[in-house]
Amino acid sequence: MAVPGLRVWERAPLAPFTTITTGGSAGLLLSAVTQEALASALRVLRQHEAPWFCLGGGSNLLVADRGYPGVVVRLDEGFQYVEGLPSGAWDTTCRAAAAEPVPMAVITGAGAFLARLAAVAAEAGLSGLEWACGIPGTLGGAVAMNAGAHGSSVSDVMDAVELTSETGVRWVPRADLDCGYRHCALPAGSVVTAVRLFLTPGDPVDILQRHRALLRARRTSQPRGARTFGSAFKNPPGDSAGHLLEKAGLKGVRHGGAEISRVHANFIVNVGDATTGDVLCLMSLMREAVFRSSGVLLDPEVKLLGAAFPWSEDQRGNG
Ligand SMILES: Cc1cc2nc3c(=O)[nH]c(=O)nc-3n(C[C@H](O)[C@H](O)[C@H](O)COP(=O)(O)OP(=O)(O)OC[C@H]3O[C@@H](n4cnc5c(N)ncnc54)[C@H](O)[C@@H]3O)c2cc1C
Repeated sequence: MAVPGLRVWERAPLAPFTTITTGGSAGLLLSAVTQEALASALRVLRQHEAPWFCLGGGSNLLVADRGYPGVVVRLDEGFQYVEGLPSGAWDTTCRAAAAEPVPMAVITGAGAFLARLAAVAAEAGLSGLEWACGIPGTLGGAVAMNAGAHGSSVSDVMDAVELTSETGVRWVPRADLDCGYRHCALPAGSVVTAVRLFLTPGDPVDILQRHRALLRARRTSQPRGARTFGSAFKNPPGDSAGHLLEKAGLKGVRHGGAEISRVHANFIVNVGDATTGDVLCLMSLMREAVFRSSGVLLDPEVKLLGAAFPWSEDQRGNG
């Protein structure tokens, strides 16, 4: 595709772009260097009626073993900027602001990494993203998933998102996005390219202490350094998927190279050369076992590209 500001790869393996590291290739992988290039690419894709999917950090994604014949679009490094953090050290101005905390606007490119942003915000004395420490992936993916933890989510601190589509660039307020638990109604055909957050001034020492406590809790409750996509299933109303799966006795169950984590029953880990088929096989088994033991049908949290879950409708691309 001859559009300036795009980097293009044909038959690009997608496994290295996911945290579970399984699955096949994309027909085409496009990395957009600028918003203009992204909008132009989306226009060309529409003209060719080509299906496309937006890839963030691949930390909540399973790619079919046979791959995805469409176009995978991602944001290049230029989308990793963060603007509006207080400059310099935690000084008297910051201390005064913290005494009368008025949320401050921070604008971040959607390619920025959520956990990294949480860390730099904490160092700058801005609170509101503590829950995000330890969550991999990009801001764009976090918005699309309304990622969250410990009772908070990105929509709590998000004021508006910048969306790029074939018609250009526009800002959309949070109120128009129907954000809920692991849900955000992004308009079809759009890519989140920036996010405006409101973060509250606070003492960096206190904020960093909260980070450390939450990271410690994560280290004991989740598999460490594992190839995984986090929670396989969403929590059903009033319960936790991990608790239901543990009750069903599924920890440590293995299929091929995939294993239900011995630490957290809602995590599937690639312990060898797992395929996406191995993972889907375990997910089917987990869903059936919880239905048998608790009468609850779990909904997947992970997104599946290029195939349908064995029990549900297809999840196609964004385009
Ligand atoms: C070890 C581990 C722990 C985790 N813990 C948590 C947790 O505590 N809480 C939680 O909520 N999640 C958690 N996750 C899941 C995952 O990190 C989050 O869902 C994350 O926000 C996904 O971001 P991503 O950039 O990796 O998105 P991807 O996995 O690349 O994509 C996910 C979805 O977002 C869409 N998307 C990505 N970027 C954009 C964009 N710019 N514009 C529009 N749509 C886009 C994709 O099309 C796809 O539908 C965890 C994952 C791991 C591996």
